[in-house]
Amino acid sequence: MDKAHILIVDDDIALLEALPQALHLRMEDIEVDTCDSAQAAIERIGEHEFDAIVSDIKMPGMDGLALLAKIQELRPETPTLLITGHGEHDLAVRALRGGAYDFIQKPIDRDYLVAALQRAVQTHQLHRQVKAQQLTLELHARSLERMVQKRTSELVEANAAKDKFLSIVSHELKTPLTSLKGMTQLLRRQVKRPDAAEVVGVGLVDMERSIRRMEVLVNDLLDSSLIETNMFVLHRKRCDLVELCRHLIDEYTAGAGPSLTFEIPGDPIEVEVDVNRISQVIINLLSNARKYSPRGSPITVTLQQAGYETMLSVRDMGVGIPEEMLPQIFDQFYRVPSVEVQNGPHVGLGLGLYISRKIVERHGGHIDVQSTPGQGSTFTVVLPLYIDPSSEATDITRLVPHTQAVWTIAH
Ligand code: ADP
Repeated sequence: MDKAHILIVDDDIALLEALPQALHLRMEDIEVDTCDSAQAAIERIGEHEFDAIVSDIKMPGMDGLALLAKIQELRPETPTLLITGHGEHDLAVRALRGGAYDFIQKPIDRDYLVAALQRAVQTHQLHRQVKAQQLTLELHARSLERMVQKRTSELVEANAAKDKFLSIVSHELKTPLTSLKGMTQLLRRQVKRPDAAEVVGVGLVDMERSIRRMEVLVNDLLDSSLIETNMFVLHRKRCDLVELCRHLIDEYTAGAGPSLTFEIPGDPIEVEVDVNRISQVIINLLSNARKYSPRGSPITVTLQQAGYETMLSVRDMGVGIPEEMLPQIFDQFYRVPSVEVQNGPHVGLGLGLYISRKIVERHGGHIDVQSTPGQGSTFTVVLPLYIDPSSEATDITRLVPHTQAVWTIAH
């Protein structure tokens, strides 16, 4: 228990000297203050919270009962013991009715006083402890309440995001589905005509386009859910990034559509990656560059090497992205509202860059963008190079930044 602080009030100076000494002898850990008048006591009580107050009832000026009333006003929780004359039962009853904790009869029985004071101090200190605990509980309850409020609003937000997501997905899936439905009905009607083969051929091309579109959406959704649930697994193997880019660009430019106009393939760049996933990133950047730049404008793919990293950048001369939108560009479901698709209908849920960023980050790399509206965008994928643990020599030339390969595509 804390050190007990006691105040004794009496106009009898001899008693004011004797009592504290007697208390110090009988009680451990106490501090005793004294006042020779009720007025002086009120001032002290206003400044300090005592664990117990002992006061004589009969004092000139303000008496003990009036002091008791004042204490009840100032410090209702401080127990007060009043000293009455022998046989003054009347005063003792008034003291108790006025809220005194106990009364002590003169001549003072020191042991009785000590026992009564100990009880009073204990009661007061317990009271204080309960109050402190109550305060802690209240603070805790308030912080819990705030947490519940925060979680609730997070849930409401998450729910709203889910609703928005569902509406985007159903809308996006509905377009190719409607087209597929229309085409099947048309083909059913046309199939009996003599030139059916030609009509069916054209219809099938349209249907395949719609199916591809749905495939992109469903694959993006699946990847995004794998990422969100931490089920995204990489199957890494060593490969040459120059070769991989060349192969993807060849495929990308094969047949009708974009054509390769310029190529400087360089020395191999060894990386350890999941070839399918990194191909997915490159194809996504290439198709975005194509989607968001006018027909005929060039797209440039550059491979650079610096230190223990390689930088693959895809640059287009398209519509670009407003600066304030750049921080969100890799977020889930984010599409820049003002950016128009230049070639054909918009395909995609705004998941492509989000998935690409996650794939690159899982490889220990990162992806950045630089863009100026009207002047095009450059997306740069930075990946760590494969380091052969058995070779100790550091090739000094690899530390100096240099371009390894460049391709330019016209579309
Ligand atoms: P989406 O499937 O909508 O293309 P992405 O995640 O691939 O989704 O891209 C997010 C948004 O970033 C796009 O909707 C588009 O507004 C913008 N964007 C992406 N690439 C480019 C680019 N090369 N030029 C201009 N805007 C781009």
